[in-house]
Amino acid sequence: MGRILRIIIVTIIVVFALRAIRMIWAALTGGGKTMAQGRGQQGARGPSRAQAEAVPTSGVLRKCGHCGVYVSEALALKEAGGAEPVYYCSSECRKLGQA
Ligand SMILES: [Zn+2]
Repeated sequence: MGRILRIIIVTIIVVFALRAIRMIWAALTGGGKTMAQGRGQQGARGPSRAQAEAVPTSGVLRKCGHCGVYVSEALALKEAGGAEPVYYCSSECRKLGQA
């Protein structure tokens, strides 16, 4: 009986150890990727989060009315002419798109 109990305890310890190793391994390798995907999550990456706020890359994407490239609404040049506003990726595209 004591022998079986010891085997069970050893098995539990091994399982916990393997899980801990896997968690550490995930944090060292794949953990960074999952953090980057969840950009909305707060606190994980301080400096890069501040960078993301300085240059808004998230949010609504608008298609350039001339070249068709997708640009963040915050960075796009808005041209409220017709019924719907037209967005341009750059001033050159705005000039060419209006011509
Ligand atoms: Zn463009």
